[in-house]
Amino acid sequence: MEVLTTKRFEFSAAHRCWNADWNEGQNQAVFGKATTPFGHGHNYVLEVTVAGPVDDRTGMVINIVELKRIVEVVLDRFDHKHLNEDTPYFRDRQPTTENLVQVLWSLIVPALPHTIRLHRLRLYATSAIFADFYGGGTANFSRSYSFSAAHRLHSAQLSPGENQQLYGKCNNESGHGHDYRFEVTISGTVDRVTGRVMNIVDLDRAVQPLLDELDHTHLDREQAAFRDRPSTAENVVLYLWECLEQVLGTRLHWIRLWETANNMFEYGVSEP
Ligand SMILES: [Zn+2]
Ligand SMILES: [Zn+2]
Repeated sequence: MEVLTTKRFEFSAAHRCWNADWNEGQNQAVFGKATTPFGHGHNYVLEVTVAGPVDDRTGMVINIVELKRIVEVVLDRFDHKHLNEDTPYFRDRQPTTENLVQVLWSLIVPALPHTIRLHRLRLYATSAIFADFYGGGTANFSRSYSFSAAHRLHSAQLSPGENQQLYGKCNNESGHGHDYRFEVTISGTVDRVTGRVMNIVDLDRAVQPLLDELDHTHLDREQAAFRDRPSTAENVVLYLWECLEQVLGTRLHWIRLWETANNMFEYGVSEP
Protein backbone atom coordinates (compact mmCIF):
# COMPACT_ATOMS: atom_id res chain seq x y z
CA MET A 1 0.00 0.00 0.00
CA GLU A 2 1.56 3.28 -1.14
CA VAL A 3 0.93 6.70 0.34
CA LEU A 4 1.80 9.89 -1.57
CA THR A 5 3.80 12.62 0.19
CA THR A 6 4.27 16.08 -1.31
CA LYS A 7 6.73 18.77 -0.27
CA ARG A 8 6.97 22.19 -1.82
CA PHE A 9 10.23 24.03 -2.57
CA GLU A 10 11.16 27.41 -4.00
CA PHE A 11 14.20 28.58 -5.89
CA SER A 12 15.00 31.62 -8.01
CA ALA A 13 16.76 31.45 -11.35
CA ALA A 14 17.26 33.34 -14.59
CA HIS A 15 16.94 31.87 -18.06
CA ARG A 16 16.67 32.72 -21.73
CA CYS A 17 15.13 30.78 -24.61
CA TRP A 18 16.97 31.24 -27.88
CA ASN A 19 17.70 28.92 -30.80
CA ALA A 20 20.96 29.97 -32.51
CA ASP A 21 19.91 28.23 -35.74
CA TRP A 22 16.92 30.58 -36.12
CA ASN A 23 16.69 34.25 -36.93
CA GLU A 24 15.19 36.84 -34.58
CA GLY A 25 11.72 36.50 -36.10
CA GLN A 26 11.59 32.71 -35.76
CA ASN A 27 12.78 32.94 -32.15
CA GLN A 28 10.17 35.59 -31.35
CA ALA A 29 7.41 33.52 -32.93
CA VAL A 30 8.16 30.52 -30.70
CA PHE A 31 9.59 31.97 -27.48
CA GLY A 32 8.11 35.50 -27.39
CA LYS A 33 9.55 37.68 -24.61
CA ALA A 34 11.65 34.77 -23.29
CA THR A 35 14.17 35.74 -26.02
CA THR A 36 15.34 39.03 -24.42
CA PRO A 37 19.16 39.04 -24.73
CA PHE A 38 20.31 38.86 -21.10
CA GLY A 39 17.52 36.65 -19.80
CA HIS A 40 14.83 37.14 -17.20
CA GLY A 41 13.98 35.28 -14.00
CA HIS A 42 11.34 33.38 -12.05
CA ASN A 43 10.55 32.40 -8.47
CA TYR A 44 10.23 28.75 -9.38
CA VAL A 45 8.06 26.56 -7.15
CA LEU A 46 8.67 22.82 -7.21
CA GLU A 47 6.22 20.31 -5.73
CA VAL A 48 7.86 16.96 -5.16
CA THR A 49 5.46 14.03 -4.72
CA VAL A 50 6.96 10.73 -3.62
CA ALA A 51 5.22 7.42 -3.08
CA GLY A 52 6.06 4.47 -0.93
CA PRO A 53 4.91 2.11 1.80
CA VAL A 54 4.40 3.49 5.30
CA ASP A 55 7.28 2.30 7.47
CA ASP A 56 5.98 0.28 10.46
CA ARG A 57 8.48 1.76 12.88
CA THR A 58 8.34 5.47 11.91
CA GLY A 59 4.82 5.67 10.52
CA MET A 60 6.24 7.62 7.58
CA VAL A 61 6.80 7.12 3.83
CA ILE A 62 9.93 9.23 4.12
CA ASN A 63 11.10 11.60 6.83
CA ILE A 64 10.15 14.99 5.38
CA VAL A 65 13.41 16.39 6.79
CA GLU A 66 15.36 13.84 4.73
CA LEU A 67 13.30 14.64 1.61
CA LYS A 68 14.04 18.33 2.18
CA ARG A 69 17.78 17.67 2.43
CA ILE A 70 17.83 15.50 -0.71
CA VAL A 71 15.91 17.99 -2.86
CA GLU A 72 17.73 21.06 -1.54
CA VAL A 73 21.09 19.55 -2.55
CA VAL A 74 19.72 19.30 -6.09
CA LEU A 75 18.12 22.76 -6.07
CA ASP A 76 21.38 24.36 -4.84
CA ARG A 77 22.69 23.79 -8.36
CA PHE A 78 19.95 26.07 -9.73
CA ASP A 79 19.07 28.55 -6.99
CA HIS A 80 20.22 32.10 -7.73
CA LYS A 81 21.85 30.94 -10.96
CA HIS A 82 21.36 31.66 -14.64
CA LEU A 83 20.16 28.32 -16.06
CA ASN A 84 21.87 28.87 -19.43
CA GLU A 85 25.16 30.29 -18.15
CA ASP A 86 25.72 28.66 -14.76
CA THR A 87 24.41 25.10 -15.16
CA PRO A 88 25.55 22.44 -17.66
CA TYR A 89 22.05 21.14 -18.43
CA PHE A 90 20.85 23.53 -21.11
CA ARG A 91 23.78 23.64 -23.56
CA ASP A 92 21.83 21.55 -26.09
CA ARG A 93 18.24 22.13 -24.99
CA GLN A 94 16.07 25.10 -24.13
CA PRO A 95 15.60 25.96 -20.41
CA THR A 96 11.81 25.71 -20.67
CA THR A 97 9.64 24.65 -17.75
CA GLU A 98 9.12 21.24 -19.42
CA ASN A 99 12.87 20.64 -19.88
CA LEU A 100 13.77 21.95 -16.42
CA VAL A 101 11.26 19.64 -14.72
CA GLN A 102 12.79 16.66 -16.59
CA VAL A 103 16.32 17.67 -15.56
CA LEU A 104 15.19 17.94 -11.93
CA TRP A 105 13.57 14.50 -12.21
CA SER A 106 16.83 12.96 -13.49
CA LEU A 107 18.74 14.46 -10.54
CA ILE A 108 16.23 13.70 -7.75
CA VAL A 109 15.43 10.06 -8.65
CA PRO A 110 18.95 8.66 -8.00
CA ALA A 111 19.19 10.62 -4.73
CA LEU A 112 16.06 9.07 -3.18
CA PRO A 113 16.18 5.99 -0.91
CA HIS A 114 15.47 2.82 -2.93
CA THR A 115 12.15 2.21 -1.12
CA ILE A 116 10.79 5.55 -2.36
CA ARG A 117 9.33 6.16 -5.81
CA LEU A 118 9.23 9.65 -7.30
CA HIS A 119 5.60 9.93 -8.36
CA ARG A 120 5.34 13.43 -9.79
CA LEU A 121 7.22 16.71 -10.11
CA ARG A 122 5.16 19.84 -10.64
CA LEU A 123 7.21 22.90 -11.51
CA TYR A 124 5.67 26.37 -11.52
CA ALA A 125 7.57 29.03 -13.51
CA THR A 126 4.88 31.55 -12.54
CA SER A 127 1.56 31.10 -10.76
CA ALA A 128 -0.03 30.82 -14.24
CA ILE A 129 2.44 28.43 -15.91
CA PHE A 130 3.51 25.00 -14.72
CA ALA A 131 4.63 21.61 -16.00
CA ASP A 132 4.01 18.14 -14.57
CA PHE A 133 6.31 15.20 -15.17
CA TYR A 134 5.67 11.59 -14.16
CA GLY A 135 8.85 10.10 -15.60
CA GLY A 136 7.41 8.75 -18.85
CA GLY A 137 7.78 9.92 -22.42
CA THR A 138 5.28 12.75 -22.10
CA ALA A 139 4.81 15.83 -19.94
CA ASN A 140 1.82 18.00 -19.08
CA PHE A 141 1.99 21.73 -19.58
CA SER A 142 -0.62 23.97 -17.92
CA ARG A 143 -1.38 27.63 -18.33
CA SER A 144 -4.14 29.59 -16.60
CA TYR A 145 -6.39 32.27 -18.04
CA SER A 146 -9.20 34.37 -16.66
CA PHE A 147 -12.32 36.17 -17.72
CA SER A 148 -14.94 38.19 -15.86
CA ALA A 149 -18.58 37.53 -16.54
CA ALA A 150 -22.06 37.97 -15.13
CA HIS A 151 -24.51 35.09 -14.92
CA ARG A 152 -27.65 33.80 -13.27
CA LEU A 153 -28.41 30.24 -12.22
CA HIS A 154 -31.77 29.35 -13.67
CA SER A 155 -33.16 26.21 -15.30
CA ALA A 156 -35.98 26.41 -17.83
CA GLN A 157 -36.90 22.87 -16.76
CA LEU A 158 -37.75 23.98 -13.23
CA SER A 159 -40.59 26.17 -11.93
CA PRO A 160 -39.81 29.66 -10.55
CA GLY A 161 -40.29 28.30 -7.04
CA GLU A 162 -38.00 25.32 -7.66
CA ASN A 163 -35.35 27.59 -9.20
CA GLN A 164 -35.49 29.86 -6.17
CA GLN A 165 -35.29 26.96 -3.76
CA LEU A 166 -32.42 25.23 -5.59
CA TYR A 167 -30.20 28.16 -6.54
CA GLY A 168 -31.10 30.68 -3.80
CA LYS A 169 -29.16 33.96 -4.20
CA CYS A 170 -27.62 32.70 -7.46
CA ASN A 171 -31.13 32.82 -9.03
CA ASN A 172 -31.28 36.63 -8.69
CA GLU A 173 -33.06 37.70 -11.88
CA SER A 174 -30.64 40.36 -13.13
CA GLY A 175 -27.60 38.25 -12.28
CA HIS A 176 -24.34 38.43 -10.35
CA GLY A 177 -20.78 37.80 -11.54
CA HIS A 178 -17.39 36.16 -11.08
CA ASP A 179 -13.76 36.42 -12.06
CA TYR A 180 -13.55 32.99 -13.60
CA ARG A 181 -10.08 31.44 -13.75
CA PHE A 182 -9.27 28.27 -15.66
CA GLU A 183 -6.20 26.13 -16.25
CA VAL A 184 -5.70 24.46 -19.61
CA THR A 185 -3.51 21.35 -19.48
CA ILE A 186 -1.84 20.13 -22.67
CA SER A 187 -0.29 16.67 -22.75
CA GLY A 188 2.34 15.41 -25.17
CA THR A 189 5.97 14.75 -25.89
CA VAL A 190 8.41 17.58 -25.28
CA ASP A 191 9.66 18.87 -28.63
CA ARG A 192 13.43 18.40 -28.89
CA VAL A 193 13.95 21.74 -30.64
CA THR A 194 11.52 24.04 -28.80
CA GLY A 195 11.64 22.28 -25.42
CA ARG A 196 7.88 22.61 -25.22
CA VAL A 197 4.82 20.37 -25.26
CA MET A 198 3.18 23.23 -27.15
CA ASN A 199 4.38 26.75 -27.86
CA ILE A 200 2.87 29.17 -25.34
CA VAL A 201 2.42 31.70 -28.15
CA ASP A 202 0.31 29.14 -30.08
CA LEU A 203 -1.65 28.11 -26.99
CA ASP A 204 -2.47 31.74 -26.19
CA ARG A 205 -3.56 32.26 -29.77
CA ALA A 206 -5.86 29.22 -29.53
CA VAL A 207 -7.46 30.38 -26.26
CA GLN A 208 -7.74 34.12 -26.98
CA PRO A 209 -10.91 33.99 -29.16
CA LEU A 210 -12.74 32.20 -26.36
CA LEU A 211 -11.61 34.83 -23.83
CA ASP A 212 -12.68 37.61 -26.19
CA GLU A 213 -16.07 35.94 -26.56
CA LEU A 214 -16.75 35.46 -22.83
CA ASP A 215 -14.93 38.31 -21.08
CA HIS A 216 -17.14 41.12 -19.74
CA THR A 217 -20.37 39.57 -20.92
CA HIS A 218 -23.52 38.19 -19.27
CA LEU A 219 -23.36 34.45 -19.92
CA ASP A 220 -27.12 33.83 -19.84
CA ARG A 221 -28.13 36.91 -21.80
CA GLU A 222 -25.34 37.17 -24.35
CA GLN A 223 -23.94 33.67 -24.90
CA ALA A 224 -25.87 31.23 -27.09
CA ALA A 225 -24.21 28.32 -25.26
CA PHE A 226 -26.17 29.13 -22.09
CA ARG A 227 -29.52 29.94 -23.64
CA ASP A 228 -30.76 26.37 -23.08
CA ARG A 229 -28.55 25.16 -20.25
CA PRO A 230 -27.96 26.68 -16.82
CA SER A 231 -24.69 28.62 -16.57
CA THR A 232 -23.45 26.44 -13.70
CA ALA A 233 -19.69 26.08 -13.40
CA GLU A 234 -20.12 22.44 -14.49
CA ASN A 235 -21.65 23.63 -17.76
CA VAL A 236 -19.08 26.42 -18.12
CA VAL A 237 -16.17 23.95 -17.81
CA LEU A 238 -17.83 21.65 -20.36
CA TYR A 239 -18.30 24.61 -22.73
CA LEU A 240 -14.64 25.60 -22.37
CA TRP A 241 -13.74 21.98 -23.18
CA GLU A 242 -15.99 21.86 -26.25
CA CYS A 243 -14.50 25.08 -27.64
CA LEU A 244 -10.86 24.32 -26.88
CA GLU A 245 -11.06 20.72 -28.08
CA GLN A 246 -11.98 22.08 -31.51
CA VAL A 247 -8.73 24.04 -31.77
CA LEU A 248 -6.37 21.89 -29.68
CA GLY A 249 -7.63 18.40 -30.56
CA THR A 250 -6.25 15.43 -28.64
CA ARG A 251 -3.50 17.56 -27.11
CA LEU A 252 -6.09 18.99 -24.71
CA HIS A 253 -5.82 16.89 -21.57
CA TRP A 254 -7.59 18.60 -18.67
CA ILE A 255 -9.38 21.83 -17.70
CA ARG A 256 -9.80 23.16 -14.17
CA LEU A 257 -12.18 26.02 -13.56
CA TRP A 258 -12.42 28.16 -10.45
CA GLU A 259 -15.75 29.98 -10.27
CA THR A 260 -14.56 31.52 -7.01
CA ALA A 261 -11.36 30.90 -5.08
CA ASN A 262 -13.27 28.26 -3.07
CA ASN A 263 -15.14 26.35 -5.78
CA MET A 264 -13.24 24.34 -8.41
CA PHE A 265 -14.58 22.19 -11.26
CA GLU A 266 -12.60 19.86 -13.52
CA TYR A 267 -13.08 17.98 -16.73
CA GLY A 268 -10.69 15.94 -18.85
CA VAL A 269 -9.97 12.74 -20.68
CA SER A 270 -8.13 10.99 -17.86
CA GLU A 271 -6.82 11.91 -14.43
CA PRO A 272 -3.96 14.42 -14.69
ZN1 LIG B 1 10.77 32.54 -18.30
ZN1 LIG C 1 -22.38 32.54 -9.70
